[in-house]
Amino acid sequence: MDPPPSATGMDPASPEGRERVLTATAAAPGVAVGTATQYDASGPVVSHSSIAPDEVEAEVALLDAAVARARQELETVGALLPAAATDEAQALLDAQALMLRDEEFLETVRRRIREMHASAGAAVRAVLSAHRERMGGSDDAYLGDRADELVALETRLLRALRHGEAALSIEAHAVLIARALPATDLLRLSRHRLLGCVTEEGSAASHLAVVAEALQIPLLVGVPQVLQAVPSGTPVLVDGDAGRLIVHPTSHTRERYRRRGSVLTTAPETPPDGPPITADGHAVTVRANIGLEKELELLAPYGAQGIGLLRTELYLLGDTGLSLAEDEQVGAYRRALDAAGEAGATVRLLDVGGDEQPPRCSCGLRENAPMLGARGVRRLLDCPDELLRPQLRALFRARSRGPLRVLLPMVTDPEEVRRVRAVAAEEHARLPAAVRGPDSSLPLGAMVEVPAAALRADALAEAADFLSVGTNDLAQFVLAVDRTNECVAARHSALHPAVLQLVQRVAAAGRAADCPVEVCGEAAADVEAVPVLLGLGVEALSVAPPHLLRVRRLLQAIRHADTPALAQEALAAPDAAAVRAHARDWLRAQGGAAAALLQNP
Ligand code: PEP
Ligand code: MG
Repeated sequence: MDPPPSATGMDPASPEGRERVLTATAAAPGVAVGTATQYDASGPVVSHSSIAPDEVEAEVALLDAAVARARQELETVGALLPAAATDEAQALLDAQALMLRDEEFLETVRRRIREMHASAGAAVRAVLSAHRERMGGSDDAYLGDRADELVALETRLLRALRHGEAALSIEAHAVLIARALPATDLLRLSRHRLLGCVTEEGSAASHLAVVAEALQIPLLVGVPQVLQAVPSGTPVLVDGDAGRLIVHPTSHTRERYRRRGSVLTTAPETPPDGPPITADGHAVTVRANIGLEKELELLAPYGAQGIGLLRTELYLLGDTGLSLAEDEQVGAYRRALDAAGEAGATVRLLDVGGDEQPPRCSCGLRENAPMLGARGVRRLLDCPDELLRPQLRALFRARSRGPLRVLLPMVTDPEEVRRVRAVAAEEHARLPAAVRGPDSSLPLGAMVEVPAAALRADALAEAADFLSVGTNDLAQFVLAVDRTNECVAARHSALHPAVLQLVQRVAAAGRAADCPVEVCGEAAADVEAVPVLLGLGVEALSVAPPHLLRVRRLLQAIRHADTPALAQEALAAPDAAAVRAHARDWLRAQGGAAAALLQNP
């Protein structure tokens, strides 16, 4: 995406002295008016150190719940550790699990709450630092390791406490202000009915943006020094459409926004008007990207032709609290297939790793470049027993509910598709005949988001049953632009001619091998990118539900036969900005209905 420039400055037209307008990158649409609440996602916080005598038992219950949560997390972390993980990483987890079962330690913490009226966080911190002090000053390597384990345990317990409802210091109806925010924190905090979110770091192409959009929480990213500029308690207006953070909005400004009525509604005000067929009669399939269970109810009202991308790492892990239990997965996929109806669902296998690593970040195993690390299908093949096999079994068990396709994330080589296919066949054979169904074949698609996969799309199209281009990651890797780094966010664009060349290559390879090619990255929802993608030979799009109506309207307004000429112009253009300019001119030439859909005309 090409975000607006991220300079910060005063709006000269501001009608009252206190109102300030900060320019930001719009990462999830909508408008929110509320009170700023600062949030520190970086480390554990003990928000208060003491409690009233009558709060003692509630605080002990809070501690016990946090211990249970931390134990559950450790189990999941263990399951997600790649096979290549170091022994130290596993030992660190084992040591923490042991401490969490150590009744003597837990009783000491509880006593501190009961007798000294310490908050659960303060008690955990005090007991563990006393332990550490007893070991302090020693050069003994064993004791050094033990001290590391205690720090890791403290972090985990304090985080678990912070995620407990009572310990969370976020008011309902707040606008969250943070330096950075993991997407999973946003999921948890959204239960507190967050109105909006503003971060200093991050980009419009990050998982945070995907989740914010799914939750319909307006999100601004790339606001320099936002923590200094907007203290907690400040009234703010978040304009996630135009990329503006208005601090101390005047009543005039609020009224202007209220009249504009630009807040997203759950269901569309007007139902879809007609099928997604271009003005010259070419049908394009338009499916929905789903990341959260509650989005399933949007499929029918927005007229989605099924699910084109179910991001299971968000759908399973984000909302429901880190559960990969096979039975729970079966239920989750059945619900998705029921909602998708006859058009069916495309379920992407876990894309854990990259910018979204909730369970690993505090376990001691670090990757210097996680986006290039053990991510997606690499991770699945690294730990087939823990991740891949249970997920495939659950999919086989759920698939009697409707047409199902399975999509592999971060594929580099066709061999990865073949290996997953072989594992799927094994799991099918192992399942009892009554649950597995007669057909052992599962349509397997490959995400094309690694340049090597696009460059050898002909071989990939032979190995896979369909290809889905992930333009968010593909642009990141082709342009060497970290999609989570705001400093280079303006350089991230799927409309760059180099990215488009690869899309063209993939579309041609798909056609030659009779292997359908679709696009499920954010570019599929970009009005200026869609005609270019069609001109390059893409036949199906998958977009977040709120974009479905706009994309359908766009298709109805343009002539498919004119798109190849635009695509040729785009491929020959010097850069992404020139492609965008060509696309805007082209849309204007298509006529009023197409021109009216141009963003920020
Ligand atoms: C992509 O990379 O374009 C994509 C659709 O996957 P994700 O955004 O989940 O990485
Ligand atoms: Mg991707």
